[in-house]
Amino acid sequence: MTKRKSKSADFKSLYDLFEAIPDEVAAISYFKNIIWKNGERCPYCGHDKVYAFSDGKAWKCAKCRQRFSIRVGTIFEDSKIPLRKWLAAIWLITSHRKGIASTQIARDLNVTQKTGWFMLHRLRHAARTRSFNRPLRGFVEADEGYFGGKDKNRHKENRRKVKKTLAVGLLERQGELRVFPIKHTGQMIGAIVRNVKEGSRLMTDSAPVLANMGALYDHTAVNHSRGQYGDGADGHTNSIEGVWALIKRQIYGIHHWVSAKHLDRYLAEAVWRYNRRDVKDSNRIADFLTRVDGRLTYASLIAP
Ligand SMILES: [Zn+2]
Repeated sequence: MTKRKSKSADFKSLYDLFEAIPDEVAAISYFKNIIWKNGERCPYCGHDKVYAFSDGKAWKCAKCRQRFSIRVGTIFEDSKIPLRKWLAAIWLITSHRKGIASTQIARDLNVTQKTGWFMLHRLRHAARTRSFNRPLRGFVEADEGYFGGKDKNRHKENRRKVKKTLAVGLLERQGELRVFPIKHTGQMIGAIVRNVKEGSRLMTDSAPVLANMGALYDHTAVNHSRGQYGDGADGHTNSIEGVWALIKRQIYGIHHWVSAKHLDRYLAEAVWRYNRRDVKDSNRIADFLTRVDGRLTYASLIAP
């Protein structure tokens, strides 16, 4: 494997990426360096000694003797799309701050729109954060967000008349954003308790379900309908409301219409991008690839 001296991953454009990764073997090598950054590992038995075939495309486990490609056990395992195009798709999806439409992916990568759509959905699936290592702490804003239609009505009273999908957003100021789809506002409580460290400063609106949060948190409820927009310095929910606005611009600005079925993937992508807002493009690709496990099949995507 050729080792690139400078940061090979510092792609400033799609052109840079294609130049640094000129063919499929280079893409495999690039991918391998990311997913085996802590050492080689057989995807079948977990053994840490594997032999590379000379073509640079396959490996064989020293223990279970299985021959495998680097895609085994990743979301790319059953895909016929070249890894090089997958890397380019990741670059595109992570470098367009407002998201990217499948039609654009199709044009840029010379694939059909159906393939572009499938690639985007599979990458969104990969972007989902599956484990949360530490609770949010410090100043945390919690708010409910309504999705599933053009959001022209500012007031929550009006919003409730339209059937929308509900999500709870938790934002650690200057920190991490977490968003979970929920079925009713009562589920906000569980999401907060599971994700926010006890004793933290908690800012919410004055939703009645959150009336007792003061038992666990230093809680400020802001009553917007009474014209309150915070208690001055810290007690506001402006940051999480800004996040909702940003996410809605991303989703409706690019996709125009989103079915409830796919909403959680779009949300996951937007959250993922938000949480890496200060990370360079190059690192975003590596960061994305370190979490590519678990598979999403085409059948499960189009299932009713
Ligand atoms: Zn093995």
